[in-house]
Amino acid sequence: MLRKFFSYYRPHRRLFIIDFSSAIIVAILELAFPVAVQYFIDDLLPSGNWDVIVQTGILLLLVYMLSTFLQYIVNYLGHKLGINIETDMRRELFNHVQKQSFRFFDNTKTGHIMSRITNDLFDIGELAHHGPEDIFIAVMTLIGAFFLMFNINPELAVIAIVMVPFLSIVATYGNIQMNKAWKRMYGKIADVNARVEDSVSGVRVVQSFTNEQFEMDRFQQDNNQFRLAKLRAYKVMAQTHSSIFMMTRLVTLVVLVVGAWFTLSDQITYGEFVSFVLFVNVLIKPVDKITALLELYPKGMAGFKRFTELIDQDPEVQNLPHAKPAPLLKGDIQFNDVSFGYDSHKKVLESINLSIPAGQTVAFVGPSGAGKTTICSLIPRFYDVNEGEISIDGIPIQDMTTESLRHQIGIVQQDVFLFTGTIRENIAYGNLAASDEEVMEAAKKAHLEEFVAGLPDGYETQIGERGLKLSGGQKQRLAIARMFLKNPPILILDEATSALDTATEQIIQAALTELAENRTTLIIAHRLATIRDADRVVVVTENGIEEQGTYDELVAQGGVFATLHNSQFRESKLGITKE
Ligand code: ADP
Ligand code: MG
Repeated sequence: MLRKFFSYYRPHRRLFIIDFSSAIIVAILELAFPVAVQYFIDDLLPSGNWDVIVQTGILLLLVYMLSTFLQYIVNYLGHKLGINIETDMRRELFNHVQKQSFRFFDNTKTGHIMSRITNDLFDIGELAHHGPEDIFIAVMTLIGAFFLMFNINPELAVIAIVMVPFLSIVATYGNIQMNKAWKRMYGKIADVNARVEDSVSGVRVVQSFTNEQFEMDRFQQDNNQFRLAKLRAYKVMAQTHSSIFMMTRLVTLVVLVVGAWFTLSDQITYGEFVSFVLFVNVLIKPVDKITALLELYPKGMAGFKRFTELIDQDPEVQNLPHAKPAPLLKGDIQFNDVSFGYDSHKKVLESINLSIPAGQTVAFVGPSGAGKTTICSLIPRFYDVNEGEISIDGIPIQDMTTESLRHQIGIVQQDVFLFTGTIRENIAYGNLAASDEEVMEAAKKAHLEEFVAGLPDGYETQIGERGLKLSGGQKQRLAIARMFLKNPPILILDEATSALDTATEQIIQAALTELAENRTTLIIAHRLATIRDADRVVVVTENGIEEQGTYDELVAQGGVFATLHNSQFRESKLGITKE
C-alpha cells in the first residue's frame, strides 16, 4: 500500500527533491538560531567589538533571508507536489471509470463515484505533501534539538525533553476531537449539497405542487444542522489551540525557572540560558507537526484505500489478447445458444438462437421485461454472454476489439442522453472529426434543419442541461442526426419513438426509415404500425424467442403476435391509441 502510494511521487521526483532539501535546510537553520544567539551573548557581547557585532548581524540577516526564501519554496513547491499527485490520481480514476463496463454502473451510485473523484482525493494531496517531509523534519529537529541541548547541559536537556510527551498528549487529544468535529461537519455539508441537488433538479415538480415553503423549511433544517456542526468544530479547535498554547507556555516557564537556577548556580552561562529557552520553542514545532500528521494520515490513507479499491477493479468486458480490429462489417448477426443473466441467480435469456441477415430490418416485439433490450446490449458487448456465442459476419464478437465493434453499431434509444452544450456539439458527438458542413448535412437528413433555422442562434443554440430546452421529438431527431454522422453499418432502434405522440412519431419515422437504409437494422417497438415494413418480426416473451417470421405470416399463424396485432388493430379502430 505504502509502496503504491510512493510510486505516485516518481513523475515529480525533481519537485520532491527540491522541496525536501529546502525543508531540511530550513530545519537546520532553525536549530542554528539558538546556537547563534548563545555565541552572540557569551562571546561577542563581552568582547565589545562593535565591528564584529555588526558583521554578525548582517550575516544573520542574510541567513534569515535565505531561510525565508526556502520556506516559501517549501510552502509553494511542496503544495505543488501535493496538487500534482492529486491531479494525477484524479485523472487516473476518471479514465478508469470511463473504461468500466455497464454492470459496474448498474451497481455503483453516481454520488459515490463523484465523492471518490473529488473529496477523497483532497486529503491525499495534503498527505502527499506533508507526510514524508514533516515526519522526517520533525524527527530530525527533535533529535537535533535534544543533542544540542544535551551538549549545553544534560540535566536541563532531559527536563525539557521529558515534557515533550505531555505536550504531545494534549495536542493529540485535541486533534482527535477536532478530527471528529470536522468529519461531522463534512457529513452535514454533504447533506446540504444533496438537498440542494434534489430541490434544484426537481424544481419543476416543487413548483407544480407549490411546495416551495416545504423545501425551504427542509433546507433550513439541514443548513442549521451544518451551522451547529461547524460551530462545534470551531469551538473544539479554539479549545485545542488554547490548551496547546497553555502547555507550551508551561514548558517554557519550567525551563525558564529551572534554567535560572542552573544559571545562578553557575552551571550554565547566560548565553546558554537564553539558547535553552529558544530551543524549547524549536521543540514545540515538531510536536505540532507530528500531531497534525496523526490526523492527516488516517484521513489521507482512507481516501487512498478507496482510490486503490476502484483502480484495482478491472473492467468486466475487455479486449481478449487475441482480439483484432474488426473489418468493415456487413451485419450478418448470429446468436448461437446464447444464455445471459444480469446476476447469477436469474437468467434473462436462455439458449437464444437467432440469425439476422446483413442489410435486413428485423423487428423485436413482446411484453416489457422480456429481454429485448438485453439482446441488443449483448451485440456491442456491453455485457458478456454467460454461455454460447454471438458472431457478426462469421467472426465471434470476442475476437474483435470492443472499439472496432462498437464503432460499427449505432443505438438510438427512447431516452436520448444529450450533453450540456450546443446543438452542433451534440450532433458532432456522433463523429468528433466531422466538419460543420457534415453536421448540417446530418441535421438535414434527420429533418432537424427547419427547427434549427428557426432558432436565433441556430446550431450554436444552447440546449440546456441534458437537452432540457428541447421537446421529446426534437431530442430524438438530434439523436438521429448524430447517428447519421456516426454512419454505422448496424443500427439498433430501441423503442426510439415509443415516448412520442403519433404525429411526431410519423415525422421521426420518416427520418428513421432513411437512417435504416443500407444498414442491418434491429427495431424494438411497441406500436406495430412502426414495424409494418420489417423484413422479419421476432416475438420475444419470458420463454425466449416465441415466434418469428414476416408480419403477415405471424398474423396468419394465429399465435401471440396475432393476438397482439388484433388488439392494437381493434384499439386503433375505436380511436384509442396505445400509450
Ligand atoms: P425489455 O427490453 O424486453 O423490456 P429488458 O431487456 O430491459 O426487457 O429486461 C429484461 C429483464 O432484465 C427484466 O427482468 C429486467 O428487470 C432485467 N434487467 C434489465 N436491465 C437490467 C440491469 N441493468 N440489471 C439487472 N437487471 C436488469
Ligand atoms: Mg427495453
